[in-house]
Amino acid sequence: MRLVVLPGDGIGPEISDATVGVLDLVNRRLSLDLTLETHEIGLARLRRDGTTLPASVLEAARQADGVVLGPVSHSDYPPRAEGGVNVSAELRVAFDLYANIRPARSREGLPYYGRTPMDLVIVRENTEGFYADRNMYWGSGEFMPTADVALAIRKVTASGSRRIAQAAFEIARRRRRTVTAVHKVNVLRVSESLFLREVRAVAEAYPDVAYAEQLIDSMAALLVRDARRFDVVVTTNMFGDILSDEASELSGSLGLGAAINAGDARCVAQAQHGSAPDIAGHDRANPIALVLSAAMLLDWIARTRGIDGLAHGAQAIERSVDAVLRDPARRTHDMGGALGTRAFTAVLCEEIGRRLG
Ligand code: NAD
Repeated sequence: MRLVVLPGDGIGPEISDATVGVLDLVNRRLSLDLTLETHEIGLARLRRDGTTLPASVLEAARQADGVVLGPVSHSDYPPRAEGGVNVSAELRVAFDLYANIRPARSREGLPYYGRTPMDLVIVRENTEGFYADRNMYWGSGEFMPTADVALAIRKVTASGSRRIAQAAFEIARRRRRTVTAVHKVNVLRVSESLFLREVRAVAEAYPDVAYAEQLIDSMAALLVRDARRFDVVVTTNMFGDILSDEASELSGSLGLGAAINAGDARCVAQAQHGSAPDIAGHDRANPIALVLSAAMLLDWIARTRGIDGLAHGAQAIERSVDAVLRDPARRTHDMGGALGTRAFTAVLCEEIGRRLG
């Protein structure tokens, strides 16, 4: 089993080091036969080789059994023609990673910021919507006919809506069996009607899963007021992007927000947050989001290939994070604690080691 690690920009190298440390430990303790291979990407690679993502790295990622991708500072990248390839978007398009799966869960002992605890998963469509760098075959989905007019195209397809709905209902079957579709059909009558038409059709094929719908604006409020009512949430690209950051922060910290980008054949683990340039290089980043994303990747490989050991490793990581966070003295700065990235990782590895014997 070969995993490719792409550390990225900002806090990416710090949280990737932590993640590699955790994966190495689980690999040794459970004899998983994992090989980790790290490749430089992002601004450092651009300075060295003139591109943030060389073709050889994309190929290594394609050949791997899974990818762990750190955050990238793509708002600081030059245009694509000058080597600024948004690695995150590129992998989603190249590998057809249509499902961005973003859990948010409050944890025993850790303060959360909504009015109720939460345990939900946001299933975000990942290849269409308003995302100008990935919703066109050629060219950009944003353009300016004159210096004072800017237009953005939003793409919603029946097939894209159907497959993200199926992903959501499959996840719901492994959880509390409720799916909520989040939309804005009262304003975007054409595109949101198409999205809902497909989700409703899929819902009919899952009579064992309860189905509900919610407008995006009230959903934003309900996440604060009563998040415990939600189990699996399925939505289009931009709504899912924004709601998932909100949900993670409400659950305790954006630094807890793990995610995978999954297709039918490939999977990329990637934290929900960005490259946090304001704290980069200061040993202040919370590595949990990327560590738990890597655990989700192990679980995805375990499920798609039937390898139980990997699922066991993923569970050990998840439970160890919960156990560590119960103690206020064992938290990073974003959760009100005093531990730096390295000290937190050492504590987490100690806990995982104890759990795995
Ligand atoms: P951000 O998510 O990087 O940071 C928002 C705030 O949360 C900052 O105060 C940051 O310090 C804090 N934060 C984020 N992750 C943290 C962690 N693990 N531990 C502790 N604190 C954490 O968002 P931003 O500042 O708006 O964006 C910075 C850069 O990241 C931009 O270039 C943006 O384009 C990029 N970005 C990349 C991704 C990605 O690679 N998936 C996602 C979002 C943004």
